Amino acid sequence: PNSKAGDGKPRLLLMGQRRSGKSSISSVVFHKLPPSETLYIETTTRIKKESMHSFMDFQVWDFPGHLDYFDPAFDVDNIFEEIGALIWVIDAQDEYLEAIMRLNMTILNLQNSYPNINVEVFVHKVDGLSEDYKSDTFRDIIQRVQDELSDNGYENAPVSFYQTSIYDHSIFEAFSKVIQKLIPQLPTLEALLNSLCSTCHIEKAYLFDIMSKIYIATDTSPTDIGSYEICSDYIDVVIDVSEIYGWDRPAENGHSEIAETGNNDAESLITMERKGNNYLYLREINKYLALICLMGDDSPAEKKAVIDYNVGVFQAALKQVFPRAERDVPQTTSEE
Ligand code: GDP
Repeated sequence: PNSKAGDGKPRLLLMGQRRSGKSSISSVVFHKLPPSETLYIETTTRIKKESMHSFMDFQVWDFPGHLDYFDPAFDVDNIFEEIGALIWVIDAQDEYLEAIMRLNMTILNLQNSYPNINVEVFVHKVDGLSEDYKSDTFRDIIQRVQDELSDNGYENAPVSFYQTSIYDHSIFEAFSKVIQKLIPQLPTLEALLNSLCSTCHIEKAYLFDIMSKIYIATDTSPTDIGSYEICSDYIDVVIDVSEIYGWDRPAENGHSEIAETGNNDAESLITMERKGNNYLYLREINKYLALICLMGDDSPAEKKAVIDYNVGVFQAALKQVFPRAERDVPQTTSEE
């Protein structure tokens, strides 16, 4: 029997005040909207549940305003029981004291009832700030949250902070770190990637969620942002994501989309090419994930057979780690 779609996926909830950037983040990361076009999108005005063809599940909420989540009529438990991380977006270009107050209130509440939910604070829109102002603001926000936590005896609450912007890769990097904490198999994945890298002389290997371009694991060698960018851009070059996943097109009949497109073993996409001084290798692993490897000039394309073989081994191992991703039935986007 198939498990229900969405089961076992990391679940995220995005919260923050009106205009803090929630819709923009969601559109840029999960719908590939160019950042400049977020100027014209509708701000979040209600709870939006988005289920997408991704390794993770994701919901966006507007924080109070018109909706008070401490309202007993509102089924908080139902939601918080399901999520692994609460991403709290703070607009760093705006007055943030009110936002911090609400964030602190929320963290204290969560510590009472759901102490295992990670609270991930995105200090957002930092692209508009000078370096000095940016780091002062970041420090100030961390301080204000930590003071409140220790005043209440919660020194070790799982709260982390990131500086993000939709105008660069920082939002993807932050999401990657958030997601990786929610993947219990991460140590196994890292070990598999490490072994692949050393066997095939690969410099850096990423396991990407194709649709969002968030990486869910990488080998444990030091990551520099440049290699993430190169690999993430390569997905766009190689995979026409919208073609494969068709997430923008609502299903017209019961059995939506091209669920089985090109993602079974026989047809999985494999490609390798030269990019500047590097070689890039991409292979679709299952319908959500692709492996992308970055190799130096000293790894000539003739090695491709060796890499193909070892990546095949990796892919087989991964099937044991994520049996569910092979079976999942894609969902359509829903909103309530
Ligand atoms: P929401 O109400 O939280 O959903 O906020 P929106 O997504 O509607 O964003 C409000 C405004 O912030 C929009 O005009 C966005 O273009 C802008 N915005 C969102 N993210 C960023 C960012 O990273 N940098 C900058 N400079 N502006 C952003």
